[in-house]
Amino acid sequence: MTDRDYGVPLTAPDRAFRDEVQRFLASALTSDIGPSAGTEADRLDRMRRWQRRLHQAGLAAISWPEEYGGRSATPVQQLIFTAEMAAARAPEPINRSAINQLGPTIIQWGTPEQRAHYLPRILSGEDVWCQGFSEPDAGSDLASLTTRAVIDGDELVITGQKIWTSKAHYANRIYLLARTDPGAAPREGISYLLADLSTPGIEVRPIRQISGDAEFSEVFFDGARVPINNVLGPLHEGWRVAKSTLGYERVGQSRTHRIERRLDILVRMAGEPNALSDRGFQDSYVADHLVRFAAQVEALRQIAAQATAAGVRGVSPGPEASMAKLLTSELDQAMANFGLDLAGMPGALERGSPSAIKGGNVAKSYLVMRAATFGAGTSEIQRNVIAERLLGLPRDP
Ligand SMILES: Cc1cc2nc3c(=O)[nH]c(=O)nc-3n(C[C@H](O)[C@H](O)[C@H](O)COP(=O)(O)OP(=O)(O)OC[C@H]3O[C@@H](n4cnc5c(N)ncnc54)[C@H](O)[C@@H]3O)c2cc1C
Repeated sequence: MTDRDYGVPLTAPDRAFRDEVQRFLASALTSDIGPSAGTEADRLDRMRRWQRRLHQAGLAAISWPEEYGGRSATPVQQLIFTAEMAAARAPEPINRSAINQLGPTIIQWGTPEQRAHYLPRILSGEDVWCQGFSEPDAGSDLASLTTRAVIDGDELVITGQKIWTSKAHYANRIYLLARTDPGAAPREGISYLLADLSTPGIEVRPIRQISGDAEFSEVFFDGARVPINNVLGPLHEGWRVAKSTLGYERVGQSRTHRIERRLDILVRMAGEPNALSDRGFQDSYVADHLVRFAAQVEALRQIAAQATAAGVRGVSPGPEASMAKLLTSELDQAMANFGLDLAGMPGALERGSPSAIKGGNVAKSYLVMRAATFGAGTSEIQRNVIAERLLGLPRDP
């Protein structure tokens, strides 16, 4: 089995786990699953099949406790798993965000019935979830959300609008926040609901992005009825439940392997003649950038490991998750910008253009990364969290 440097010493159980993951990848990551330039439908199909294979091998959600179908993996085992998946260039499972965010939230807050019903369906990929938190007038200031859910017997009737809902165009379920007690203080009258997207009264309208893709949508609720049993956590106390999800989400953003891969690509581009220099690494401007990126990638690996460790211990991730999210998104964006600098003018050409650099991926990364410092909480909001909760500075009014 391949010995890779994960940056931490391995115990015998860690090595056994690494061997198991490597064996799984050698047999399960067949050529029909690997990277390809197919259509969006092909990509989703590969992600679904990959999730099924992970699930069959008991590897779909290794951080979850064993009693819920996970492996109770240690932080080191999580690092091993992530590094091996990245090295093999495995696709993401279709339900990655539900595995990282909603699943742990259901484990933390769900009733036994909710856990028994939803968790296995997340693992198998039978249910694919999207997150309906943001609204046109409630993003950073999420507590100002106005979607409401009125109790009517044993149902809740939902009316309002969500926006920027990633994956809604292929998900079958949505978890959302709605105001159930309009008279309460903004953070106190909110409930966390689980809904089937095919419920009458729910409509999904995809939004076209600057990159040309439509990865997120508006979701409209017009008198959609969901059973009151679909409230996750206490009624009217969904803010506390949502904070768990948001913490897990920030941890999930620190996907270091994507950044490591980007660094590899930049190093290759810098080593060849490029728009900035034909002296390769001898050029101090180019070398300086790469060294800074490499140092930040290493810092990120350490921070991400700490945040992962908190999640594995069942502790809601704290401000460390904000550090990981902030560093990941800003680094990702800075590296995409530098890729465009290295590529020069042809770097701006999009996929399909004969002169495009790296098949148009340089332009695509640059455009896609504009959103990185917004999704999962903006950089300014992460800085507020770090300032207040780690540095003890006065609160943002
Ligand atoms: C790629 C992507 C995917 C997303 N996916 C989802 C999803 O699946 N589900 C979902 O619910 N949402 C999703 N979002 C929405 C995301 O959570 C919001 O965009 C984000 O919370 C910011 O909200 P906003 O867009 O309303 O911007 P605003 O909150 O209006 O912010 C505008 C600007 O003001 C700044 N600002 C706001 N408040 C403060 C403050 N107190 N101090 C300093 N600066 C401040 C912000 O940093 C920002 O620069 C996604 C967004 C993106 C970009």
